[in-house]
Amino acid sequence: MKIGILALQGAFREHEEALKKLGIHYVELRKKEDLSSGIDAIILPGGESSVQGKLLRELEMYDIIRQEIQNGLPTLATCAGLILLAENIEEQTQTHFATLPVTVRRNAYGRQLGSFSCEGEVKGFGKIPMEFIRAPYISEVSKDVDVLSQVDKKIVAVRYGAQYAFAFHPELNDEPVVHQTFVEGI
Ligand code: GLN
Repeated sequence: MKIGILALQGAFREHEEALKKLGIHYVELRKKEDLSSGIDAIILPGGESSVQGKLLRELEMYDIIRQEIQNGLPTLATCAGLILLAENIEEQTQTHFATLPVTVRRNAYGRQLGSFSCEGEVKGFGKIPMEFIRAPYISEVSKDVDVLSQVDKKIVAVRYGAQYAFAFHPELNDEPVVHQTFVEGI
């Protein structure tokens, strides 16, 4: 098994550390050619979604990855990764992969409360620490989206087919429970 980690910008190294702890083989996806090596799943890290979206297009990785996700490639997306997947982004017309039928609100907790941590139950993953960093939340989901977790009545984790999307950063947890569970499901 080989997992591709989108490594254009943002917090991809933390995902690599999580996979290392689990002894899982991964490859950094930095250019179009990296996508031809054959991957069994993809991780979309946190960072700045608008920058990631721009680079994906410039590097001609966008269409290929979008097609693979649509074809059912298991996907684990965190924070900006969730924004890349969302079909709708509040207050902006540009979307990115738009393969996940949800609406997200970027920087949803405002500047002051932008970053915080808590602990919460995530369906299928158990009770885990949740690190929010200038995080989005999910303001709307289509009816076939499985809501996995809510914090303060805001949706912060969902599953849709093989796409798992988290508004927080499970890659910052000491125990890579989320990665382990994700990989077991592949
Ligand atoms: N605020 C970032 C965005 O809108 C997401 C933050 C993160 O990934 N930690 O893309």
